[in-house]
Amino acid sequence: MKAIPYKIYLSENEMPRYWYNMKAVMKELPDPILNPATMKPCTQEELNQLFCTELVKQEFNTTDEYIEIPKGILDFYKMYRPSPLVRAYCLEKELDTPAEIYYKFEGSNTSGSHKLNSAAAQVYYAKEQGITSLTTETGAGQWGTALSMACAYYNIDLTVYMVKISAEQKPYRKAVMETYGAKVIPSPSNTTEAGRKILAENPNTSGSLGCAISEAIEVAMKTKNCRYVLGSVLDHVLLHQSIIGQETKIACEKYDIRPDIIIGCVGGGSNFGGLIAPFIGEKIQGKSNVRIIGVEPASCPSLTRGKYAYDFGDTGRTTPLLKMYTLGSGFIPSPNHAGGLRYHGMSPIISKLYHDGYIEACAVEQTKVFEAATLFARREGILPAPESAHAIKVAIDEALKCKETGEKKTIIFGLTGTGYFDLAAYISYNEGTMTDYIPTDEDLEKGFATIPKV
Ligand SMILES: *Cc1c(COP(=O)(O)O)cnc(C)c1O
Repeated sequence: MKAIPYKIYLSENEMPRYWYNMKAVMKELPDPILNPATMKPCTQEELNQLFCTELVKQEFNTTDEYIEIPKGILDFYKMYRPSPLVRAYCLEKELDTPAEIYYKFEGSNTSGSHKLNSAAAQVYYAKEQGITSLTTETGAGQWGTALSMACAYYNIDLTVYMVKISAEQKPYRKAVMETYGAKVIPSPSNTTEAGRKILAENPNTSGSLGCAISEAIEVAMKTKNCRYVLGSVLDHVLLHQSIIGQETKIACEKYDIRPDIIIGCVGGGSNFGGLIAPFIGEKIQGKSNVRIIGVEPASCPSLTRGKYAYDFGDTGRTTPLLKMYTLGSGFIPSPNHAGGLRYHGMSPIISKLYHDGYIEACAVEQTKVFEAATLFARREGILPAPESAHAIKVAIDEALKCKETGEKKTIIFGLTGTGYFDLAAYISYNEGTMTDYIPTDEDLEKGFATIPKV
């Protein structure tokens, strides 16, 4: 066996030139996106009003397994990629496990998460199309920050609707976005009809991702040469994120690492979908039997307790309908510190793979997640994002199972970002004031009641 270095940095020559499109190998495809007005599948023309044309093309691409990454995007990726795949020797030692644990670290760029991988691609295509401005929403702030960086690089105007409570809790995030030139508006706001309506009904609302989406979409539809961009959930976002899995695969081949278990946190499903993409391809084709586990917060359990149904992507019920595991667009998750995982729905691709039994899912409680995050920080040095720590928690659990059985499994998990902007959460954990809120079945029923009958 080859000696495995502590950190595996691939050279620029080894950087993937192709994204991996899981839909090209899936035995059954996810159900089509529906237009809620007609209940018929959305056409590319319809979606082109809202999204950039090339992204819509990618959304509909079910045939090309490999999609070439344009040079203009590779040039951007080269600033911070390939990202390292790290062997967690110190964590292994602490756990006294025979398992090998690796993590793919996506937090080494300024925005601090994997979201930059899709931000760069989406802004590049907007620029190519002659689009002059973009709108989006951001919850915890990672997506808005990533997009601000990409918009600065490719020279495009950006308006970010930021969930009001996050804008108040995370003024530094806002400052970073503004430094990159973005306009940041706390949502709900008075700048849109959707925002004014929500404010009229509930003037003291702290906002939600769904409501920020409604505002961003409204502005994109009403502004010339403007498009809306989304940081997760959609197939093209997973496609861009497959750069994570492609790099991981190359490193595994180079160093003869054979993963038995791959673990990722799931919010809308993009980092997880990207990490597992080429591995799922092999699994579907019968070439591997790797276990794949998505981890979600117990406070927002769309895969483990949601319904597989057509639903809106936003609270304002303005988006096309997606077939996915959902808690209902009216479900309001309890305040949880993993903001990036507080989404009622789930990527249609991940939903379909889960429904068809290719992947597993589990839900974990917040205090357990921070316990794992703290152990990881103390052993491996990196202060993880609370979202990422969901994957850490389950990687540790699996490694401890190996300790019991004596099995020498190889575990890879996605470390999606850093936690520097989540220190309020760490303070709450350190002071012992953090609580676990798990919705009751009754709470969930209220959300399910908002799922449209299709
Ligand atoms: C946004 C975010 C997530 C969750 O989003 P996905 O689309 O499910 O990947 C996870 N980790 C971090 C650090 C994030 O910023």
